[in-house]
Amino acid sequence: MTTIHPPDILSEPFTSLRRDILDIRCLCCGAKLADPTSAVLKLGPHCRQRLGIKTRFLKSNTEATDLIVRAAVAASQHDLPTVLDLVSQLRALDPVFDALADRVYARFFDLRVIRDGEDFVVVTPYDPTLIARLKPLRLYFSKLPPTKGWRVPAEKLDEVIDVIAAVFPRASLLNHDGSVISFGAGVRA
Ligand SMILES: [Zn+2]
Repeated sequence: MTTIHPPDILSEPFTSLRRDILDIRCLCCGAKLADPTSAVLKLGPHCRQRLGIKTRFLKSNTEATDLIVRAAVAASQHDLPTVLDLVSQLRALDPVFDALADRVYARFFDLRVIRDGEDFVVVTPYDPTLIARLKPLRLYFSKLPPTKGWRVPAEKLDEVIDVIAAVFPRASLLNHDGSVISFGAGVRA
């Protein structure tokens, strides 16, 4: 017989690993947050209780915590494919984790393509050469959170990726489907 205990968020193992990979602080006290629900709310369990904010942990909190722990362990071993796989499982659990997933991606990739409805958001580092080359494509740069980046219609995505590859010839780009395009290796699909 298996007894399932409610997870004690603060005494679980790997708490510091989770804090590191989530890298999100409580808006109220500044403490680094360790569980997915708190990270989504940006408020820790102690502050929620202190402020009388009654929020249940997300139904998927336990599974999400497990994925985040495993992703953190894989990240500490520089096992990027496993990190990417676990983060895509996290997103599949609940779209509420999309922003968390993108924070994790952001730590590993400067260049990312994110699906945004029918269109895409392409995130790049600031680079004047890139801006000059993208200008003729008449793209709109969105500064709106959660993701600042170039809004790219689907029909222009390949062209934009080609421009990025020309400007950052040794970089890798995380594509919207979770695959990684390494420009330097010449393996563009
Ligand atoms: Zn707090």
